[in-house]
Amino acid sequence: MTTADANDSLAWVRNRFSLPKGVIYLDANSLGPLPRSTAPRIATAVRQEWGDSLIGAWNDHDWINLPRRAARALGPLLGADSDDIAVADSTTVNLFKCLTAALRLRPDREVVVVEQDTFPTDAYVAAGVVDVLGRGHIVQRVPASDMADEISAAGARLAAVVLSHVDYRSGRRHDLAGVTAAAHAVGALTVWDLAHSAGVMPLHLERDGVDFAVGCGYKWLNGGPGAPSFLYVAQAHQEQFHPGLVGWMGHAEPFDFDSEYQPARGAARAMVGTPPILSLIGLIEGLASLDGVDLDTVRRKSVKLTESMMDLVDARLARYGFGLATPRDPECRGGQVSLVHPDAYAICQALIARGVIGDFRTPDILRFGLSPLFLRHSDIPAAIDVLHDIMATRAWDHPDFSTKAAVT
Ligand SMILES: *Cc1c(COP(=O)(O)O)cnc(C)c1O
Repeated sequence: MTTADANDSLAWVRNRFSLPKGVIYLDANSLGPLPRSTAPRIATAVRQEWGDSLIGAWNDHDWINLPRRAARALGPLLGADSDDIAVADSTTVNLFKCLTAALRLRPDREVVVVEQDTFPTDAYVAAGVVDVLGRGHIVQRVPASDMADEISAAGARLAAVVLSHVDYRSGRRHDLAGVTAAAHAVGALTVWDLAHSAGVMPLHLERDGVDFAVGCGYKWLNGGPGAPSFLYVAQAHQEQFHPGLVGWMGHAEPFDFDSEYQPARGAARAMVGTPPILSLIGLIEGLASLDGVDLDTVRRKSVKLTESMMDLVDARLARYGFGLATPRDPECRGGQVSLVHPDAYAICQALIARGVIGDFRTPDILRFGLSPLFLRHSDIPAAIDVLHDIMATRAWDHPDFSTKAAVT
């Protein structure tokens, strides 16, 4: 065992996960691994709760309150009161709700700023919201690096900015508090997408004055494929939160079957329809994998893991034509390392064939999400050894590795 691993105060957390033998999993930012508790818990929910209790399970097994339980577990991870968090739907749908509400809170302003290279769904949602509202909003696509300047330039015309805290492709990280303050300085609202930061670094949404945020349950939060998403609505905006998508589960008393809509208290008004109970149970188990884990410690290990990978790339892979898309300054990056290479797709496939799982993002990014919860420090040099071997032997240059699958 290396010294770094011997001194790793998070080493015990690895045992919470069921990881396939012989695999180094560097893709927790796409789909977190399976917590050991998840399969038995879901099996119980299916066989005993659903199977034996049938409809009674909503009360007998408290299914109706599972979204609140998930929100309570998320509170400390987001630096937010659990009443200001709702767990429901997908990130895409929650973004729709938050941006709609944000634009309605700034009725006299016409500009929506969206990052140039943002995750596509964020830009599609912005266009969709503008279309549905039909009030002639202008979506401005802005390079992430110019964000603060562009916000000042838009000034009193700016209604809201939609931002990825950590960029899915490069891993570049915004100064969440700083950009939020810049938006507030011109009277605009922020909608943050935390898909690549929630669960891998401490967040302080309330302290940093964030207006709205959304995030993903199946990435760093280990909730399982398609796990429900979360959204955050600052308390100040809750009374006027009009998400455009309204349903009975956001009613104060859904089982009154009231003909008039009365919103629930807090962020719970952003609920729409019946929660997907089995997926929600998966999310609750995923959140439990972070129970008792200090996020400052997670972040410190994350910085070490990413730094160690970047150093090894410099030292061992420079001659094979790799560039680095991820900022070297830890203040400016999240929990991933992204390499640029013209043959990134084939190299990624060759790595997977050798048990080192990362992913490819078009057109030329090889992306590694390094989870401090289950990776050992020694996994990084081990993965780089495999990558080095694939490059030195040109193992990647084989037809098997160049055919693109439906999901990349
Ligand atoms: C993964 C991801 C999403 C996913 O949205 P879904 O609605 O769950 O498909 C959204 N935004 C960003 C930035 C992401 O990385």
